[in-house]
Amino acid sequence: MRDQRSGAPASGGYSIFHDTMADMTYPEIAAAAESGAAVLWGLGVIEQHGPHLPLATDVYVPYAVLRRVKALLAESGIASLIMPPFYWGVNHVTGRFPGSFEIRPAVMSELIIDVLGSLKKDGFADVFCLSGHGDAMHNNALIDGVRRGSAAAGINGAMVVSPGFAKRLGFDPADRNVLVTAPEGGTPARHPDIHAGEWETSLLLGYFPDVVRQEILPTLTSTEFSAADLDEWRKGQEHAKRMTPQGYIGDPAVANVAYGLEIVERQAAVIADAIAGRLGEAR
Ligand SMILES: [Zn+2]
Repeated sequence: MRDQRSGAPASGGYSIFHDTMADMTYPEIAAAAESGAAVLWGLGVIEQHGPHLPLATDVYVPYAVLRRVKALLAESGIASLIMPPFYWGVNHVTGRFPGSFEIRPAVMSELIIDVLGSLKKDGFADVFCLSGHGDAMHNNALIDGVRRGSAAAGINGAMVVSPGFAKRLGFDPADRNVLVTAPEGGTPARHPDIHAGEWETSLLLGYFPDVVRQEILPTLTSTEFSAADLDEWRKGQEHAKRMTPQGYIGDPAVANVAYGLEIVERQAAVIADAIAGRLGEAR
């Protein structure tokens, strides 16, 4: 879609800076901090997502969810800003595939610490981080950065997680740097659908259809992984490459726009509720 007058991409287009702090000016940032706006930060990764989805899938997903969270918070009278997305995350599991960049966890944690320090310097008090990527090493680096960065800066930083995700990662729900949402609801998939499968493909079809290789979708068969298959895949590297030569787990061929929109609505609703609850306790 192009702007008719200038020929430039229409507002919003595919810029992941759209509606984020990156497209604001410094006086606008200062005014937002002054008004007590909360900061929302999606942290994804550049990683292979099968032959049909772009490497930045895990960046697009939290960006789409947080834009909806921001709108829901505004409806409750809570001001928020979206950070420019973080995308140099940790890929242990799929590191053997082309396009999966392997960043050291310490580099990710240290960068988060510096960014939280900058937000504090600018007068922000509350930062909510949403991971776009399931790899345990990525999420452990994320929570480590949030914990140490929050303590060092004296800022209220929290990683927002679903109950299932918190359990898999071994996070303590009583930890102030963790914010566990209510369950999202919805029908669980019959087989694991966790990487470039039905839900991620649906979400990208709903929000960023131009980057989905739609002609490939009908050729992709459902992986129908067992729990044991998934454990083997999560060992990562050559194990993941062997278990999923095409790089996806799930059923991308059944993806559809309606499901993509539904996922964002469900996730954004529980995340906005959890954030409003946490801010309500503090104020
Ligand atoms: Zn993904």
